[in-house]
Amino acid sequence: MDVSAHIEAVYDNLRRRDPGETEFHQAAQEVLHTMGPVLETHPEYVEARIMERLCEPERQLMFRVPWVDDQGTVRVNRGFRVEFNSALGPYKGGLRFHPSVNLGIVKFLGFEQIFKNALTGMAIGGGKGGADFDPKGRSDGEVMRFCQAFMTELYRHLGEHTDVPAGDIGVGAREIGYLFGQYKRITNRYDAGVLTGKPVGWGGSHARTEATGYGAVYFAQEMLATRGQHLDGRRVVISGSGNVAVYAAEKVHALGGLVVACSDSSGYVVDEDGLDLDLLKEIKEVRRDRIAAYAEARPAARFSARGSVFDVPCDIALPCATQNELNQQDAVALVKNGVLAVAEGANMPCTPDAVEVFRDARILFGPGKAANAGGVATSALEMQQNAARDSWTFERTEDRLAGIMRQVHAECRTTAATYGGDPDDYVFGANASGFLRVAEAMTAQG
Ligand code: GLU
Repeated sequence: MDVSAHIEAVYDNLRRRDPGETEFHQAAQEVLHTMGPVLETHPEYVEARIMERLCEPERQLMFRVPWVDDQGTVRVNRGFRVEFNSALGPYKGGLRFHPSVNLGIVKFLGFEQIFKNALTGMAIGGGKGGADFDPKGRSDGEVMRFCQAFMTELYRHLGEHTDVPAGDIGVGAREIGYLFGQYKRITNRYDAGVLTGKPVGWGGSHARTEATGYGAVYFAQEMLATRGQHLDGRRVVISGSGNVAVYAAEKVHALGGLVVACSDSSGYVVDEDGLDLDLLKEIKEVRRDRIAAYAEARPAARFSARGSVFDVPCDIALPCATQNELNQQDAVALVKNGVLAVAEGANMPCTPDAVEVFRDARILFGPGKAANAGGVATSALEMQQNAARDSWTFERTEDRLAGIMRQVHAECRTTAATYGGDPDDYVFGANASGFLRVAEAMTAQG
């Protein structure tokens, strides 16, 4: 069979079936167009229509989430859970609460999650969920009632062997706590392993909060090492100022780099002395305030509401905010300013034409599936601890995380080379490695 015609047919089919799901089409296309050499070598996967089956979620849930705000007004949001693929383990992936959430966004995230989770080498399938609820400006009580209403529907689809959600944008330890409480109330079961990202005091894993950010920095470090370089003394720009960004910055500083800028949806701050992370955490996590407050509290820093954080010259860029935040123009600016490496802390933050710019300039580029896999890998470690009713130390957990990131990095390079690609092509390496592991399991399971 003609492999490229097969790939085209799969892509045409999903676009025809699901018009308007732009982000999902983008994520699927990004994988499909790299898959040629793998499918040429494995005609059995073409025969078994593995790619076509992978692009169709096993189950898609959409549900009503009614809740009452502080004024006593009834509000209605839409909840989602896409259970994409369970070949390697229970569906695993975060929940995102953000007004932009729709089925196409959840499908793109769930699709990415299949490959990412496979790459970690842990026994976890791929899924994702969320709601178009905007937590911004909502009181603690409103967030709690929303989480309870959300779980009142979702609980029936979850289980430690079935589907295990965690956090994503807008869902952190507070929300996981409210979700878990409602799950326990309804089922009368203390199933610690039904959600990950729990606080350390009652079933959470040490280093889970830090894991995505730390992991992205480990990945960048591994990429740099292939060219005899390291983070020490390097200027780093990070987009975002949420959980991933903050802990990426913390690890950069621990390894001797200097994070000179970060951002939120209102603009960015530049701090040439290096970001004060205690201040940043206080503003974003405790006060839940805008990033401009950082510059107000630190006279040496400046805030800009215009332009892009990626205009700030740096050696390493870590996009850690959201999808498609780094476009072609940003990529050109980064290359012009001499960037050495880009590692995606967020899911699909670089647009396809931005990735093309990095590729042409031979900039080290770590795609999110590989570079941000540390978060979900540590969720799998949390599941292990829950199943064993055990709790590991921070050091032991971080050690496992670091080992997993090294292995993910090495596997991307080896797989790319095995299938005739450039070992520096982490996009191809990550897609191919993830695909092969899932395809093998799907084939064996019939
Ligand atoms: N939301 C995170 C991700 O994008 C983590 C998911 C999880 O821990 O299950 O990978």
